[in-house]
Amino acid sequence: MSCPFLREENVKYCVASAFRKMIPESARDAGHERCSSAAYRDCPAAAAKVGGRPIADRCPFLDDADVEFCAAAPVATYVPVNHSLPSRCTSAGHLYCDLYLATADPGGVHRTGSVVFPGSSRSGRRTVVVGGIPVPAYLSYAPNHMWLDRAGDGRCHVGIDAFLAEVVGRVDAISFVRSGRGAAQPIAVFTVNGVEMHLVFPHELEDVTANTCLRADPSRLTADPYGAGWLFAGVDPTTNGAPPGAAASAGLIAGENAARWFVAEGGRLRAFVQQRIEPPADGARVMAEGGRVAPGLAARLERDLLIALFNEFFSPHPASRRPS
Ligand code: SF4
Repeated sequence: MSCPFLREENVKYCVASAFRKMIPESARDAGHERCSSAAYRDCPAAAAKVGGRPIADRCPFLDDADVEFCAAAPVATYVPVNHSLPSRCTSAGHLYCDLYLATADPGGVHRTGSVVFPGSSRSGRRTVVVGGIPVPAYLSYAPNHMWLDRAGDGRCHVGIDAFLAEVVGRVDAISFVRSGRGAAQPIAVFTVNGVEMHLVFPHELEDVTANTCLRADPSRLTADPYGAGWLFAGVDPTTNGAPPGAAASAGLIAGENAARWFVAEGGRLRAFVQQRIEPPADGARVMAEGGRVAPGLAARLERDLLIALFNEFFSPHPASRRPS
């Protein structure tokens, strides 16, 4: 699944020139240019290099190449076509590219602060809304509220779901414990209200890279958790030989089970708030209208309660939390 903004073009360029300026075939005025006619003999760059070569009817230093460029970028950068190299632009990874998201989804239907309608979609991928929380139906969910998007070629993206994003509201800093080659569990460390929270994806991925843009702008994590706020990209370790999806998505919650699980998690969070949290003395509300927990709950909790909340809902191995 290639990005719709990826374009291919044939370009001409001069190998005798000190600067390799590429001219797209579509922009050439072939009938009047010097390089593709015998008039090239008047070109100083060609004259300096032609030596004893026989005179041809076009410049021997005029070459061409097939290149790719991004039509969503403000300035086109031509890159030689190489179909053997993995690329975000020629895979489902383009769905997490900033330029793609800004151009194809400028309204950001996945942002938790936006109105999201049941059945809204990005690139034909369906999202339902469960108790006010958007739940993309094409994702699989880990019990600690991380999502996995696994493409058919085994490439994966991992992030946090909108439930976690709404509970923490604001993340002050993000760092990444592990990224690089070899199989490993991706781990991110968030600082929320002065407390560090380790978020561990339950399965190993290979060739893990982190979305390092989040270090400079952590707000993307909770503003667009299913898009620009993605955390990790990697490859399912079972891509070579084993059945697709056997490892990275094992035990994750998907499809209608995911919608049911989000309903149950909303109930568990309400129960946690009602049982463990006294009404704040400053009058701030932790329960919004309709009994739903108010967004940004983490910012209103004391350290011990905040750690208890993290352990209960976002730790990879709490004894009390198992998907039904
Ligand atoms: S850079 Fe982004 S928007 Fe441009 S072609 Fe690649 S994936 Fe698409």
